[in-house]
Amino acid sequence: MLDIQTQPQFPLIADPENYRAHTINMIEFPKVFDYWVSLFAEHSDVMRERCVESHAGRDDAVERAQWFQDKFREELKQLREQPTMFGEELTILKLCRRRLELHTEAGFEDPFKPMKDIENAAALKLLPGVLRDLDEQAMEDRLLILMRGIFAGNIFDMGAKDTIELYESGGIDFHKVRESVQRPFFVDDFDILKARFESYQHRKAVMFVDNAGSDVVLGMLPFARYLLQRGTQVVLTANTVPSLNDITHEELIALLEQIRVFDDVFDEALKSGQVVCEASGNDLPVIDLRITPAGLNALAADADLLVLEGMGRGLETNYDTRFTCDTLKLAMIKDQQVMDHFGSKLYDVVCRFEPGGE
Ligand code: MG
Repeated sequence: MLDIQTQPQFPLIADPENYRAHTINMIEFPKVFDYWVSLFAEHSDVMRERCVESHAGRDDAVERAQWFQDKFREELKQLREQPTMFGEELTILKLCRRRLELHTEAGFEDPFKPMKDIENAAALKLLPGVLRDLDEQAMEDRLLILMRGIFAGNIFDMGAKDTIELYESGGIDFHKVRESVQRPFFVDDFDILKARFESYQHRKAVMFVDNAGSDVVLGMLPFARYLLQRGTQVVLTANTVPSLNDITHEELIALLEQIRVFDDVFDEALKSGQVVCEASGNDLPVIDLRITPAGLNALAADADLLVLEGMGRGLETNYDTRFTCDTLKLAMIKDQQVMDHFGSKLYDVVCRFEPGGE
């Protein structure tokens, strides 16, 4: 099992020597340990179903998916007997990576592919209307609408139990959810963010995006477009390897190709290189900045705005990490353990802005 000990090369971390993507070693916290091990075991039902769906029509899909689930559950059971079986430290990253290794071994490299495609197509249909509405707003009013759009989009998360139920009951409507996300947010640095945007124009933003569908299409890409309209260079970075319903680097490139057909801002920015996509090197629903590739590190070196979006990227990892530039950590909270950790309620949102001191 991969155990990365290297110091991160991602250039925006304030204290790279002491960087830890995830700070909780669950072996030291029995309740946290119990929560996550149970959750991963329970969530393996969803994984098995998606595995089968992604190989629909293949005779052995059910059998291979069952093998994955049985094997993973067996290991989680063993882990309860022997919490150090994956090493002295046990983090969400390790459990995610082990799950990935096992379903890949069973032949399923991208179990959520059919679902991601459906969600992207559905969100793309709504995008022209969302962009038109935004363009009709005064520039100074757009930032708040964009933030609320990011939170509303982020509700689509097939890694979180509560939203899976909501999704499966057909209960998610982007506009309704956006309307319901009102200030004050649970963590609400919006006034500082707005003041910063009014007094400073960022040169370059690096944006770590999260889920396919409404999250990236109706949340993060409209925000990226707003930055482009302000003259900021934008680097969009998505996972290299598929993980749950997170958009991948390749899928993001394909999405932008579809969007540029009807949107001049993205079309111009793609032509001029004002917006680029660069792979994050990551393979999990969280972000480990120790493994970002040289290409992204080089592009990020002169960025003055970093955006980490989604629970996995901005809360479960990297929340306590300080960066040398303006940093925005944005997420909707959809997990009991995260709620307990932050003392929040379900669907509370975090809008944390940390000025980089320029
Ligand atoms: Mg995700």
